[in-house]
Amino acid sequence: MSKIQVVRSSMPPYEEYCEEIKDLWENRWLTHQGPKHQQLEKDLRKYLDVDNITLFANGHLALELAIKAFGLTGEVITTPYTFASTTQAIVRNGLVPVFCDINPIDYTIDVNKIEDLITEKTSAIIPVHVYGSICDYERIEKIANKYNLKVIYDAAHAFGIKIGSKPVGTLGDASMFSFHATKVYHTVEGGGLTYSDSTLTEKLDQLKQFGMYGKDEVPTVGTNAKMTEAHAAMGLCNLRHIDEEIAKRKVAFDRYMENLGGIDGIKLMKIQDSVKHNYAYFPAVFDGYKYSRDEIERKLAENDIFARKYFYPITNEFEAYKGMFEIQQTPIAKYISERVLTLPLYADLSVDDVDRICKLIIE
Ligand SMILES: *Cc1c(COP(=O)(O)O)cnc(C)c1O
Repeated sequence: MSKIQVVRSSMPPYEEYCEEIKDLWENRWLTHQGPKHQQLEKDLRKYLDVDNITLFANGHLALELAIKAFGLTGEVITTPYTFASTTQAIVRNGLVPVFCDINPIDYTIDVNKIEDLITEKTSAIIPVHVYGSICDYERIEKIANKYNLKVIYDAAHAFGIKIGSKPVGTLGDASMFSFHATKVYHTVEGGGLTYSDSTLTEKLDQLKQFGMYGKDEVPTVGTNAKMTEAHAAMGLCNLRHIDEEIAKRKVAFDRYMENLGGIDGIKLMKIQDSVKHNYAYFPAVFDGYKYSRDEIERKLAENDIFARKYFYPITNEFEAYKGMFEIQQTPIAKYISERVLTLPLYADLSVDDVDRICKLIIE
């Protein structure tokens, strides 16, 4: 039997991509907001149902440059139960991440614990829609308004999600989406920032292009974070198939739920009420189950099935930040990170494979 990795990138038909990039051989416009880039911004604005989007070379740089564009200072409240990128983006901007614990229900930021962490140095909150579970955005908005803070969501897991009729990319001041190859929707590498204030567009375009404006003005200190035409072309192709991909993920997701739901000691993700989900991940928390998380991981690996401890370790435990943070301040994040295993989930994962994975976990 073939290996099963935790994720497998979706690909458009080969011919479709070749057809899409044919223009590049004719116009020789390979990067710098060419026609593919322009088209993708337009199509994503429509699909994500947002007023503004700016594309980047990857999601991480979208977040780093969003922080820069908003001119954040001092301290930023965030959670450690996330991918390295969220915390690194804050630290690389010379800011101090202040870690708020997560709630034990959906692992997003615990909104009851935010206000205690606010000081006169706090300039923003950067919460994460972990596994596509949406943060309590109404409470976060209230707190942000009360203390005059910016809110930038790490929405890397939340592509295409809607809460009722509300598109996830319209929450807060801005939302970062990752279009990395392992994500639900991808451009190989890539990312996008959606935001409400349209005057940010010029600033973001400068920041991702060496701080340049036009040909010979350099008003800002910037970097190079442009999305290329070849990447945008992949994005155009994948966007045509995205609804189909999400529907296929749902089939595998539901099968896991059927097989593993109601088992003592295995806690599964609950899709929130009125949320149109994207089925990006299948996290299972082994808490009081007959096998530990690490035993399950090993057993699956012996059968060529590779699950992932996502997220472990939590970011405030990273060696890079040794001695900087009090890990005891986020006990729930630590507890969950020691018990969570993200099971394989991708559009082409068959229900037979899901059954095989579940059988190994149950027996
Ligand atoms: C993938 C991811 C990122 C970074 O995105 P890239 O496009 O890989 O740079 C940031 N935050 C979270 C939570 C992610 O999962």
